[in-house]
Amino acid sequence: MKITYGHMGTLTPIIELLVEDLGHESITPARPTRRTLMLGAKHAPEFACIPFKIVLGTYLEGLERGADLLMSGGGYGPCRAGLYGELHRRILKDLGYDFDFIFFWPPLRKPAHFYRELKKLKGKHSWPHLWRTIKKGYHKLKIYDDLEFLAQSRRPRENFPGSTSKAFEKAMNIMGPARTYPEIDSAGKEARGLLENVPADNNRTPLRVGIIGEIYVQLEPFANFYVEEQLGHLGVEVRRSIYLTSYTRHDVLSTRGDMGSRTLAMPYLSQKVGGHGQNSIGDIIRYSRLGYDGVVQLAPFSCIPEIVAKSLVPRVSKEYGIPVLTLFIDEHTGATGVQTRLEAFVDLMEQRRSGTVRTGARLA
Ligand code: SF4
Repeated sequence: MKITYGHMGTLTPIIELLVEDLGHESITPARPTRRTLMLGAKHAPEFACIPFKIVLGTYLEGLERGADLLMSGGGYGPCRAGLYGELHRRILKDLGYDFDFIFFWPPLRKPAHFYRELKKLKGKHSWPHLWRTIKKGYHKLKIYDDLEFLAQSRRPRENFPGSTSKAFEKAMNIMGPARTYPEIDSAGKEARGLLENVPADNNRTPLRVGIIGEIYVQLEPFANFYVEEQLGHLGVEVRRSIYLTSYTRHDVLSTRGDMGSRTLAMPYLSQKVGGHGQNSIGDIIRYSRLGYDGVVQLAPFSCIPEIVAKSLVPRVSKEYGIPVLTLFIDEHTGATGVQTRLEAFVDLMEQRRSGTVRTGARLA
């Protein structure tokens, strides 16, 4: 089968590995572009959130390249992510495309359905082979997360602007083709070495910002206007509230989500509101307690979970004395506007650190 799937940061090469190890051809999606987004926006309902539009555009590009099976996954209420697979399927069928579709619900929510879909994907291979492939994919995923961590630490300390991003791009190219355990480990070592050798001043104490919000716009750099890189180049060390390994532990292998941030959010938002809305509130508190200088909330325009969280941000920001910048993103959002707001936010945090601004100011 020729399989395509959505592009989401470093998850893409992991899915490619799984698909190819199971004997299929991977129509690996390229990083989304403006064309991808506009293609998806053209055929999506206007109210749909930006992850839906980008993924739809990615499917259309995959089908143009000959894919005959689309693979997707989704959350489980109360946000609309659970409906998106079916909606994608119907839109593409109405456009006249002929394809099969595999949709993965979280395994603990609908185990029988998950089993059936997994069986389709594994084809003639044995269950032990599938299990070994998944384990290997997770092993590679851990290395990707480590490399992202390292790049996030290195960028604000680099001596030559852009050198970390160049090294990270090379690191991704080295990691991509690695398939076996020895290849993955050796590629990981080489990639790590590249990032560690970026000339940097380790005595700098950069501003620290936590990135919170909806998963897709956190993990896919195209969807968030490369916010991590932008902040890094402004001298800020970032950490995201979601990495793929933590997401796997909290949201795939558990039905409870990240209980640490959910518990912190309880006094403000005691119920799950879908997506990572409740976590966003707890994560602001967590970053404040860790002494971070600010938080950037990434929210797709029309994303109900993040809109609910946003309504509580002023109170939490004030009570915990940490500035929060909320960026709502859709296909009309301009890169220059995002850049200007990030620059203003960094100025504000610098002033707070130097003592010229004392309050927990909020930018929204
Ligand atoms: S969490 Fe928000 S952006 Fe993500 S699918 Fe749900 S509504 Fe859309």
